[in-house]
Amino acid sequence: MTARSMTFDWSQTRIHCPLDLAAPGKRAGHLLLPWSDNTNPLGGHPIPVMVATGAPGPTLLLTAGVHGDEFEGPVAILDLWRDIDPATLRGRVIALPALNAPAVRASCRTSPLDGANLNRAFPGDPDGGPTAQIAHLVEAVLLPGCDAAVDLHSGGKASWFHPCALPARAPDGAIDTANMALARAFGAPAIWLLGSGNDARSLNGAATRRGVPMIAAELGGGGAIDPALTALAVRGLWRIMAALGMTDAAPAPENPDAGVWETADPALRITAPFDGLVEPLARAGDRVGAGQPVARWLSLAEPGRAPVTLRAPRDALVLATGQRGLVAQGEIACQLASAVEMPGGV
Ligand SMILES: [Zn+2]
Repeated sequence: MTARSMTFDWSQTRIHCPLDLAAPGKRAGHLLLPWSDNTNPLGGHPIPVMVATGAPGPTLLLTAGVHGDEFEGPVAILDLWRDIDPATLRGRVIALPALNAPAVRASCRTSPLDGANLNRAFPGDPDGGPTAQIAHLVEAVLLPGCDAAVDLHSGGKASWFHPCALPARAPDGAIDTANMALARAFGAPAIWLLGSGNDARSLNGAATRRGVPMIAAELGGGGAIDPALTALAVRGLWRIMAALGMTDAAPAPENPDAGVWETADPALRITAPFDGLVEPLARAGDRVGAGQPVARWLSLAEPGRAPVTLRAPRDALVLATGQRGLVAQGEIACQLASAVEMPGGV
């Protein structure tokens, strides 16, 4: 892999970076996001940033905290960075463990500064609100100087995801082999292939536009932290660094035969038929057959009403389940995924 430029064009953004991201060694600090409001009229909102630079080699961008109530990724990145030794590193790791820092500090999916969802804000706007400025920073400043990117997510407070890596298909529908190689190296028990119709306003969409190999990952959720999943993410990031030629030290491969799944069929999204209480009847990671119950609905508005049982429309993997007991009509109860046959066994 050919390493891209070591420099970034900070003139394109209002966000200030006080760190030298090109100098050898390790350093950590904060970007400053300018946004003037009553809480911070003239200063900047800090966004944690860490860099480790070794011998010449690729630049890997690691992000977490795109959604502010997903904490497994931030823990994994903080743990990984501490153990990186620039003396044995080939290339550079740039890590933003709480990219949407205002949302992370508020433990909210969306930013409390403007109510926006960062993963629906790309390509962003350097003159826009705080969330648009962060998206623009990633797409226009950071990604052009990176050779690969990994964006760690989880289900947040609303849901729980079977651990999986998310490579995207290229816009022409072809499977990007570089993205799939990152997903295989990460070693989660499942691969969720994002279709060509994946939301272009996401960080995956930004990486596709910039031609940067990238995966996202889903790592549990519930608004908590599962140490087994943060450890899986750390091992996966080391394996990705090894696959990129950045380190010789990598854990053994995991889940080399992980199934590939997709969610293109809207029928695989099981949503609430009415406001009420949802009782899940399947767990994330379960395999369910056609007709198998996946959730049971009970009404408080009509307390005598018989529960409604929702069933899988076909054989599927339970990719995610809702974590809220009381949900409104239309909210998700269960996301199923169907198997993808991969030509050539990639
Ligand atoms: Zn997320």
